[in-house]
Amino acid sequence: MNPQNVMLPLYDITRFTLLDYPNIPAAIFWFAGCNLRCTYCYNPDIVFGQGKLSEEESLAFLSSRCGLLEGVVLSGGECTLYPNLIPFCHSIKEMGYKIKMDTNGMRPDVIRQLLEKNLLDYVALDYKAPDSKMNDICGGGSEKRFWQSFDTLQSFNVAFEVRTTFHPDLLSEEEIITMSNTLKAMGYQNPFYVQLFREGVETLGMVDAPMRLVDIELLSQFVTLRQ
Ligand code: SF4
Repeated sequence: MNPQNVMLPLYDITRFTLLDYPNIPAAIFWFAGCNLRCTYCYNPDIVFGQGKLSEEESLAFLSSRCGLLEGVVLSGGECTLYPNLIPFCHSIKEMGYKIKMDTNGMRPDVIRQLLEKNLLDYVALDYKAPDSKMNDICGGGSEKRFWQSFDTLQSFNVAFEVRTTFHPDLLSEEEIITMSNTLKAMGYQNPFYVQLFREGVETLGMVDAPMRLVDIELLSQFVTLRQ
């Protein structure tokens, strides 16, 4: 990790959201840096960017919002890369906030440590692609580590969801259905959320060309579509 991102872990803070933490008002902490390079990534500035905000500044912001916000979403980038994440989460919890973590699942060891210390209230795990396509779509990554993270979440009593961003030029409807069936076979019983890629935004590795049409009717029989 870039040394500056160790001193200044956050690229930015979204000060208020009702959309990103189920049922409670929250802030989003955007961690700078990521260990994947997904071609459809919406956040190249965050993936390649320098951190700008320190822990102290972030906690001071939360202190000023006590009683107004109830949760913090740790997003990015990839928050599990931050070496001081566990003490940082302790500080957030001591202020009375719930913590949701968005993760690509490439650091199952960190996810386990956070769960063992009871520091997570909700986890959103990205399931990027079927195992055979993960490397192509994510510019690296490890399906083995993804499944270790999944197994860890299944084994702890924590609320979690699995989700996918669906770019129809990278995956087919049949592959999404296969992913849904794989999750069910692994004992996953929560909704499998699929969000369609939004056209017209800058991405990490794709040309902004019109996408093919998606068979929404077919997909909605197998997954939970999300705006
Ligand atoms: S979409 Fe991929 S590259 Fe972008 S932040 Fe998420 S895991 Fe990292």
